[in-house]
Amino acid sequence: MPVFEHTEFDHHQQIVFGSDAASGLRAIIAIHDTTRGPALGGLRIYPYASEEDALTDVLRLSRGMSYKSAMADLPLGGGKAVIIADPRTEKTPALLRAMGRLVESLGGAYITAEDSGSSEADMQVIAEATDHVGGLRRASGESGDPSPFTAWGVYCALRSAVRHGLRRDDIQGLRVAIQGVGHVGAHLARHLHQAGAQLVLADVDREALSHLAEELGAEAVAPEAIFDAEVDLFAPCALGAVLDEAVVERLRAKVVCGAANNQLATPAMAERLRARGILYTPDYVANAGGVIEIAWQRRDDYDRAAVMAHIEGIGATLDELFARAAREQRSPAVIADAMARERFGRG
Ligand code: NAD
Repeated sequence: MPVFEHTEFDHHQQIVFGSDAASGLRAIIAIHDTTRGPALGGLRIYPYASEEDALTDVLRLSRGMSYKSAMADLPLGGGKAVIIADPRTEKTPALLRAMGRLVESLGGAYITAEDSGSSEADMQVIAEATDHVGGLRRASGESGDPSPFTAWGVYCALRSAVRHGLRRDDIQGLRVAIQGVGHVGAHLARHLHQAGAQLVLADVDREALSHLAEELGAEAVAPEAIFDAEVDLFAPCALGAVLDEAVVERLRAKVVCGAANNQLATPAMAERLRARGILYTPDYVANAGGVIEIAWQRRDDYDRAAVMAHIEGIGATLDELFARAAREQRSPAVIADAMARERFGRG
């Protein structure tokens, strides 16, 4: 399994393979870049079919965190960790503590946090073995769910995208299609509803969909129909890789801005969207609200209003990014990557 020649390698600073015989731990920690600060990134626990799949995933995700943290103006680098295990059957306290020891062995260069397959309760167990755990400092009774922060950030991103893509300042009467009304999508729908938007919603969970549609007076459509909705803006808040060739051709919206990670099926889709006159909001810029909040938890002066203000900065970052994309006649996706690399010194 080549590492230095791996397509996702991108000059990672450090990649650590860890194992523990007693608990069965098999884990990889990838640290992409620590120029701006320690590498923060979640711990994914997943039954990867092969070590190669696990390596590919952790490298891709870790690199993505460098870009996300840099564009969110955080004093953090990018990293990620994976454990090769089924979280439903193989996640034991011993496994998590062994993971904690592995994190500890890096002396703070990597800070772990929740991701798919790992919960806040798991982070508490990991914290028995290391201090380098994010997302644990919420007051008791407060939910550990980052999605309200993510949704607020997406809403701020969307306002910037509407200013640049549609040349309008208000949300009143804006028609928005939201794909996926789960944790983030539902919060986003409520913000938009409050601001006077008209919503078209889709979700494979029909019950959740019909409840929300009724609450907000929104139109509910079948999952496949969301791409054809006659709207101004399309907000992908369900899955990755949703913007493939067929969908890009079908979209009626003039702006795309949503929470989903890795929305472009291939990098070439960025140019396809631009060619169709659709303004694409780079996903990792728009959906950084959650990581911004986790970063604030590391500070002694945590303050909710300050967190929200920092998240609102996503709008100002996008104003700069969209202006530069227009000036240089390039896709915002390309500009975001370039701006992020400049910010962590690889420009
Ligand atoms: P979630 O699982 O709560 O919501 C996703 C929703 O999409 C679910 O309701 C699901 O039923 C629906 N869905 C799945 N397939 C669909 C399809 N084909 N068509 C329509 N709906 C479909 O997840 P979430 O936490 O709301 O996150 C949404 C997206 O945002 C994910 O891609 C996630 O990686 C990304 N994201 C989330 C956060 C966060 O704070 N939660 C932060 C950054 C990025």
